[in-house]
Amino acid sequence: MAKTQRPCLIVGNWKMYKTIEEATAFIDSILPMLDKSSCQVMLAVPYTCIKPLADKVKGTPIIIGAQNMNDAMEGAFTGEVAAVMLKEAGANFVLIGHSERRTIFQESNAFINRKVQRAVACELKPILCIGETYDEREQNQTEQLLKTQLDECLAGVAKDAANTVVLAYEPIWAIGTGLAATPELVGSALATCRKILGDIWGEKEAMKVPILYGGSVNPKNAETYLSLSENNGLLIGSASLAPDSFAKIIALRQNAAVATKS
Ligand code: PEP
Repeated sequence: MAKTQRPCLIVGNWKMYKTIEEATAFIDSILPMLDKSSCQVMLAVPYTCIKPLADKVKGTPIIIGAQNMNDAMEGAFTGEVAAVMLKEAGANFVLIGHSERRTIFQESNAFINRKVQRAVACELKPILCIGETYDEREQNQTEQLLKTQLDECLAGVAKDAANTVVLAYEPIWAIGTGLAATPELVGSALATCRKILGDIWGEKEAMKVPILYGGSVNPKNAETYLSLSENNGLLIGSASLAPDSFAKIIALRQNAAVATKS
């Protein structure tokens, strides 16, 4: 057995925070701290920041993405943005189905499914977010809920997409609440997600999909999640807003190597 590292994506979700000026200052501040990073560092930023930040981070370990998109190619959808527009602006990936989109904006699995299909067709990497509510977990419905979300959100998505799609398991009760899920619970949910992906696309393809955990991750608890065998990274909200805390989490990856067969 050799000590090697699984692929690792550390994704920040800035939500509706940061002007272009603030975002630019963040990049200036964090770049010198990323020297030893062995992760792919990704920032899902407000639409207005995509173009200036994508230009600014060229040649650095950071890539820029969006937090949402519409499923249509183009059209009369006031206030919406299309995948091709995001790509043109320099986005490399897009969050799809974040719980705030599902709960505040009533996005359904069917809508999310169409967005995943559009993102894949436009070669924009989708990070599909799924996860249960507190009540669903209390009622032992988590496994069934994850299955329904994955079946419906990935319906009709060809298995080749396993090379592109990233999955983020984010229990809704843990997002922005400070109530991070226990490592045991996360480990079991990630394994469940991997198994369901295997049922949908086959085991070999399922192994290609990076699966992230998100929900109140901070510099103190991040390492336990990074050490879980099914974990391929983190989706981070509030702790991604300050360069220091985000850089600390990225640096933790250095210590989270796991033993795998060489
Ligand atoms: C998120 O926005 O996806 C998230 C996990 O937020 P937080 O880290 O603040 O819980």
